[in-house]
Amino acid sequence: MSESRAESVIFAAGTLMPISSPPLQDGAVIVREGRIEAVGDLADVGRENPGTDVRFFPNYTIVPGAVNAHAHLGFRRKDAPEGGPFSEWLGALIERLPEKEAWTAEAAGDSAREAVEAGTTYMAESSPYGECLPQLAESGMAGTVYAEFFPHEIGTPKEAVEYIVAKVSDLREGLPERVDAQVSVHSPYTVDPESSRLAARRTREMGWKLAIHLSESPEEVEFLKSGTGGLADIFGSNEWGGVGVSPVRYAQSVELLAPQTIAAHLATGVSEENIEVLANTGVAAAHCPRSNAYLRCGVSPVPAMIASGIRVGMGTDGLWSSPSLNLFEETLFAVELHGMSGAAGLELATLGGARALGIEAGTGTLDAGKWADFAVVETSWESRDPERGVLEAAAGGGVAATVVGGDMIYNRLGT
Ligand SMILES: [Zn+2]
Repeated sequence: MSESRAESVIFAAGTLMPISSPPLQDGAVIVREGRIEAVGDLADVGRENPGTDVRFFPNYTIVPGAVNAHAHLGFRRKDAPEGGPFSEWLGALIERLPEKEAWTAEAAGDSAREAVEAGTTYMAESSPYGECLPQLAESGMAGTVYAEFFPHEIGTPKEAVEYIVAKVSDLREGLPERVDAQVSVHSPYTVDPESSRLAARRTREMGWKLAIHLSESPEEVEFLKSGTGGLADIFGSNEWGGVGVSPVRYAQSVELLAPQTIAAHLATGVSEENIEVLANTGVAAAHCPRSNAYLRCGVSPVPAMIASGIRVGMGTDGLWSSPSLNLFEETLFAVELHGMSGAAGLELATLGGARALGIEAGTGTLDAGKWADFAVVETSWESRDPERGVLEAAAGGGVAATVVGGDMIYNRLGT
């Protein structure tokens, strides 16, 4: 037996759901150097790899880890501003920013821990100037921090974009192998059109990715159409609202919509024509239905977007607009909201998020060659929809272990 073979581990469970292929009873993955080497029946995988350590969890289901396509780590649960209307919530949030500084780092650590304990293996986080990157990097999860920038705090559009590009380049120094930093153009009402366009072009030139919030609230729709309403009130007499088009059309006009961009929310005012625009530009979407409900932002037309070929992943958003960082719980909410099957939901939570973020070559399913990113979920098999059963179990605290790149970063199995 070679030395590297001796370092391999077989993880097996009563049920294994690769997502890319049908569930396996007594299924197994063999993991070597952080990656999945093979997937199959435990009996076969064991026979082909004699002497390899086996961790078998008969009463559990192994699924790919949750991929959270849009979250904010730097909020805490206990003092969220009241829910919608959106602009009132945002106004309250802005008022609390000075006091928030004292506890942001602690909140980010707690939020990351909560996500890990709910089976999250990849986290796409957005925070001002990437402030939550240390907590993501320490969490053991793989992920990306999208650094938001606010041009009015920096200078001209050119200065603002050069500043955030330099900042993100710095943030990338010395990170764990699977942790990354990118740029976020926060929203159409906080980043002016010229800065948005420059950021889109600069990041695209360098092969970077981009995150945006888009078409989230009725106030955002009003702001862009007519330059009035709650958001115009917060941000004063701005010169770029009132352009007479939908948020999606506006984002297209400033070149933000592209395959490397992930747009969070798309909850309000997304017309059929907008869906065509989104599909044609190749932009991906992050669906955050519990945040949308809390902030009275309507229901994203997710089934129609998926039918148009738009890549959709799930996002929890942060604790000031959402009750938890549990992506499987978020997904169960979406399954009920849209009348989806459990299988469709579980795919959204895993492969869907990976495709939306452009990382599906490395994660999102249990397949040979991908990173060994998975959750071990305690399940009961009374459900006629086993995938929904997994979502329900994981939503209710049933995640017993979380494995990222072959490392058990959370384990209450006692083995
Ligand atoms: Zn957000």
